Amino acid sequence: MIEGNPHFSLLDREYIFPIIEKKLLELQSSTDDEIVNAGIGDIALPLAPTIAKAICDAVIEMSISKKPFGYGPSEGYLFLREAIRNNSYKNFTTDEIFISDGINTDILSILDLFKDSCTIAIPTPAYPAYLDATILSGKKDQIIEMPCTFETGFIPELPEKRVDIIYLTSPHNPTGVAMPKDRLRRFVEFAKSHGSIILYDGAYESFISSNCPKTIYEVEGAEEVALEFRSFSKSAGFTGLRCSYTVIPKSVQITVSNKFTSLNLLWKKRQSIKFNGVAYPIQKGAFACFSQDGSKEISEQVQIYKNEARTLLNGLLKLEHTCFGGIDSPYIWWKAPEALSSWEFFDLLLKRCHLVTVPGIGFGKHGDGYVRLSTFMHPGVAEKALSRISHL
Ligand code: PLP
Repeated sequence: MIEGNPHFSLLDREYIFPIIEKKLLELQSSTDDEIVNAGIGDIALPLAPTIAKAICDAVIEMSISKKPFGYGPSEGYLFLREAIRNNSYKNFTTDEIFISDGINTDILSILDLFKDSCTIAIPTPAYPAYLDATILSGKKDQIIEMPCTFETGFIPELPEKRVDIIYLTSPHNPTGVAMPKDRLRRFVEFAKSHGSIILYDGAYESFISSNCPKTIYEVEGAEEVALEFRSFSKSAGFTGLRCSYTVIPKSVQITVSNKFTSLNLLWKKRQSIKFNGVAYPIQKGAFACFSQDGSKEISEQVQIYKNEARTLLNGLLKLEHTCFGGIDSPYIWWKAPEALSSWEFFDLLLKRCHLVTVPGIGFGKHGDGYVRLSTFMHPGVAEKALSRISHL
């Protein structure tokens, strides 16, 4: 019998979303009351009209064009890479920007570029893909945890010792807290002095309204040690369309078989072998996000989610609950009342308030004792959630 990849059996964390779904279905079968879903962090609003039109136009263009639209460039069409560069990365060249079908894909694939013995620092709690990527690449025993707790301000502290790779997110998921520049600078300095590489996930960058950096490259010297991932998923409602991009500066160097090489070249090679690019209409839709109408429509949507976050956060604080995040992100990190585990608090909120959350333990051991609220909601839903919670 052929043996399967043993790393799959090491993925031993609890997959909470199927359990939440089961509990939700049970409740739905026993009540007619509307259930407020602040659980899975997926978008709630419809696709912005300018983006929808750009996608439809691109499909029609493909059907009437004399020039066939075959395989596109694996690194993405130049029109989109140029728009991204001109909008957010003027200090970089277009060949330092790679289009992909989601940060999730790149977070998992990027570890292809590093040696098996690499050590990896991962925040805990965190978006689960960092841990899954590390385990699947055979590096489970080389993980160094960076707790994101009340004591650390819900963002990670520096790793306790030298590491090769550091996963970071800002604003952080699930705690919803963005990293101030001085904290981010400490990571860049650490990476420079230890020869580490930072994998910086900016999935929620468009939600930052404080003066926390929107990109790691606001920190001087970051272009030598950091890659940055960004996505149209949450900023423009692309979770179902799939389009993101990764910035890999040519100045990020590693050695392969004792020879210096740029990570950019290695990634280009990897992508040309393993990835055939994102569909043309989807890239045209992403391109429309940078048009005047497109950018107005998507920022209005982000503002709706942010307003819901503000309403929910202020309401919870007024009711004297202990909550964090929610200012620079669509997530609120809600402390369970004394002695309740995150699953017990989840069950209480589901049964008594008909409110779906995500138990913090699903994001790592330091997440226990909290639940995460997502504010990807239609206007007014936060008020509805609050009126339920006020009866708790
Ligand atoms: N990074 C973080 C921190 C996320 O929370 C998510 C999705 O929830 C992703 C990445 C996934 O992004 P994408 O849809 O581009 O794969």
